[in-house]
Amino acid sequence: MMVSLFDLKDRVAVVTGGTRGIGKAIAIGLAESGANIALLQRSDNAETKREIEKLGVTCEIFQCDLHDLDRVRNVLPEVLEKLGAVDILVNNAGIQRRHPAVEFPESDWDEVLKVNLKAVWILCQEAGKIMTDQKKGKIINIASLVSYQGGIFVPAYTAAKGAVGQLTKALANEWSSLGVNVNAIVPGYIATEMNTALIDDPVRSRQILERIPAGRWGDPEDFKGAAIYLASAASDYVHGHLLAVDGGWLGR
Ligand code: NAP
Repeated sequence: MMVSLFDLKDRVAVVTGGTRGIGKAIAIGLAESGANIALLQRSDNAETKREIEKLGVTCEIFQCDLHDLDRVRNVLPEVLEKLGAVDILVNNAGIQRRHPAVEFPESDWDEVLKVNLKAVWILCQEAGKIMTDQKKGKIINIASLVSYQGGIFVPAYTAAKGAVGQLTKALANEWSSLGVNVNAIVPGYIATEMNTALIDDPVRSRQILERIPAGRWGDPEDFKGAAIYLASAASDYVHGHLLAVDGGWLGR
C-alpha cells in the first residue's frame, strides 16, 4: 500500500532544467518511482537522459529555450504526441542575476522575469489546459526562500519567485476541484552552480551555514522525496502548498 501511494509507473513527467542541479535530481527521482520523463532543455546535453534510461523507463529531450516563449507555448502538445500523456509538470529551470538594486540592468531584470516567471506561467497554463481536460495532473513549481524573504542583491529573482509562490496558490484555487494539484517546493540554500558566488564568498558562506538548523547546505538529492510526494497519489488532497526543503531555515 505504501509503495503504491508513491508509484509513478506509466506517468509522464515533464521537467525543465534537468541538465544539472535540483532539476536533474528531481527528474531521476521521478524516474526511480517509475515515471517516463520529458526533459525540456535548451542544450542537447544527454547525460540526464542516459542516467534515466538506465532505470528502464523512457526519456526524451525536447529542445526548449525558456527565452523563446513561442516555443514554450507549443512544446507540451509535442510531448503529448510523442509520450502519450502529460501527467506531471515540474517548473524547475531558473536563473540568477546579482547586482545592487541601483545598478541592476534592465536587460537582467527582463531576462530573470521571463525565464523564472513568464515561462513558468505559460507552461502552467498549457499544462492546465491538458490536465483540467483529463481531470488529473500534478504541477510542481520551484519557488524559493525569497518567495517569503527579500534576499540581497537579487531584486528581480525575489520579485519573480514571490510571484511564483502566489501563482501556485492562484492556480490551485481554480484547478483543485478539477483534479489538478498545483504546489511548490521551496529550496533552502542548495550547493549548485546557481550559488557559486555565495559558496565562493567565505563570509557569506559561513553566515548562511550558521543559520541553517540542519547544519549543512542542501544537496540536489534532498529534493527527490518532496518531488515524488507532490507528483504522486500521496498528495492528492494537497493544494496550493509551498513545501520548504530548507534544513529548517524558515522555522528559525
Ligand atoms: P542550476 O544548477 O543553475 O540549474 C539551472 C537549470 O535551469 C539548468 O538545467 C539550466 O540549463 C536551466 N536553464 C536556465 N536557463 C534556461 C533556459 N533559458 N532555458 C532552459 N533551461 C534553462 O540551478 P539549481 O540550483 O538547480 O536551481 C533549480 C531551481 O531551484 C531554480 O528555479 C532555482 O531558482 C531554484 N532554487 C535554487 C536554490 C539553490 O539554493 N540552488 C534555492 C532556491 C530556489 P542549462 O544547462 O542549459 O544552463
